[in-house]
Amino acid sequence: MKQAGIDPERVVPLNDKGLPKGDFVIYWMQQSQRLDYNHALQYAVHLADERGLGVVVIFCLMDDYPEANLRHYAFMLEGLRETALDLGELGMKFFLIKGRPEEAIPRLARRASLVVCDRGYLRHQIAWRHGVGRRIECPFIQVEGDVVIPVERVSSKAEYAARTIRPKMHRLLGHFLKPLETRAPRRSSVGIELDVTGEASLEDAMEKLSIDRGVPPAGNFFRPGAVQARRLFQKFLEEKLENYVPNHNQPQTDNCSCMSMYLHFGQISPMELALKVQEHRDDNPEAVDAFLEELIVRRELAINFVRYTDDYDSFGSIPAWARRTLERHAPNRRPYVYSAADLDAAATHDPYWNAAMNEMKYTGFMHNYMRMYWGKKILEWSPTPREAYRTLMWLNNRHFLDGRDPNSYAGAGWVFGLHDRPWGERDIFGTVRTMTASGLERKCDIRAYVEKVGGYILTGSPGRENTGAS
Ligand SMILES: Cc1cc2nc3c(=O)[nH]c(=O)nc-3n(C[C@H](O)[C@H](O)[C@H](O)COP(=O)(O)OP(=O)(O)OC[C@H]3O[C@@H](n4cnc5c(N)ncnc54)[C@H](O)[C@@H]3O)c2cc1C
Repeated sequence: MKQAGIDPERVVPLNDKGLPKGDFVIYWMQQSQRLDYNHALQYAVHLADERGLGVVVIFCLMDDYPEANLRHYAFMLEGLRETALDLGELGMKFFLIKGRPEEAIPRLARRASLVVCDRGYLRHQIAWRHGVGRRIECPFIQVEGDVVIPVERVSSKAEYAARTIRPKMHRLLGHFLKPLETRAPRRSSVGIELDVTGEASLEDAMEKLSIDRGVPPAGNFFRPGAVQARRLFQKFLEEKLENYVPNHNQPQTDNCSCMSMYLHFGQISPMELALKVQEHRDDNPEAVDAFLEELIVRRELAINFVRYTDDYDSFGSIPAWARRTLERHAPNRRPYVYSAADLDAAATHDPYWNAAMNEMKYTGFMHNYMRMYWGKKILEWSPTPREAYRTLMWLNNRHFLDGRDPNSYAGAGWVFGLHDRPWGERDIFGTVRTMTASGLERKCDIRAYVEKVGGYILTGSPGRENTGAS
């Protein structure tokens, strides 16, 4: 049965508890940190309306979110501030609770009729949901809204490559890519008080967090929140989409959407982006297809990888052929060997690589083509492939605003051969694909890219419009 326009394949009960009377419905927000195109929220609204109840939204804030630092928390909390206001306007009270979900949600749910949550695919996100499901006394339902097509519906196994998952996705796209109306619950929850220990205010949460403050916020470059994401995306559609295809591998240009960090924090929905870009099909059919290939096929291939690969964040997750060839070539002499600290300091002999590392450090972002080069060089310049994997993952998740995402693990994996095929045999890489500085020089205006990043560092701001700083 379809409820609130939500396909039943997105909805999974996480326990089998009977329905108590309850004073309200809880939406435990974790992955989808937004108001619009939020399937879990709309499902909660629908069930609350059926019971004549209000919807209370709870977000659990932890000091020890895996690998998160000040840069990530600043982006997230600022986005949540906007979301809390949006929810309030629709009559839904938002509580920020400092504590672990497995403890906080079952405690707060004692007065609830049921709890709805969204879906995350990483190990700890799954563990939290299991933990809540084990302890909670009312029905607990998960709604999958941060993918266009429900992951298990596309495939029941880790897919080999984009070419194997693409036809499966294309067959299902028409069914699942649909608008979702944002509806307010009939009954407001704004007057509801919860007996909460650990309630935190969005204003001072940041000062009270005991977190790694070693990486500064990147707010001069990318401002958080759904409003900003939409503004940036509108600009992309109006000014950049037409050159998306020719400039795809041109890092000196800014013809990409920069939506990855907003998608990572769930501040914008992939459904909303996909539907908006489709409106431009008549003018730019090729660009629309290319964008949907990245947003749906590549992004959801990464989620497929994480969903079906237990050790998705380790060297062991790389395909056997690639591990074998890399390990066979591990004794090969490296032209340069850098430690993780040298790399973090952007202190290599290669000005192109240093510029990429600086883009990442200063802005929290990097153009896709440079991410590929950046990763391949870490593999080339590390003492062993295993150490390269660890260093790459550490830098990726430390500096990128969109780090710690399924895309991070699939992107890193790609450097080592994941979702790719064997190429001609070379030193160090074996049959894993290489990238070279001379290739960059041939294929793009790499000096203009170095200059662009130099400008960021000098001015501490983007100096160009696409990053949305105002
Ligand atoms: C070594 C390496 C590390 C990476 N680390 C991350 C990471 O930590 N987080 C992250 O989100 N992406 C990562 N990527 C994937 C990709 O580079 C970024 O998603 C993309 O550059 C983001 O820019 P954009 O939003 O302007 O993309 P656009 O070109 O505008 O594409 C729109 C959306 O499609 C998705 N997308 C685009 N390219 C890819 C891709 N190659 N694989 C999967 N999805 C894609 C993203 O969600 C992106 O926001 C990595 C890639 C590599 C090679």
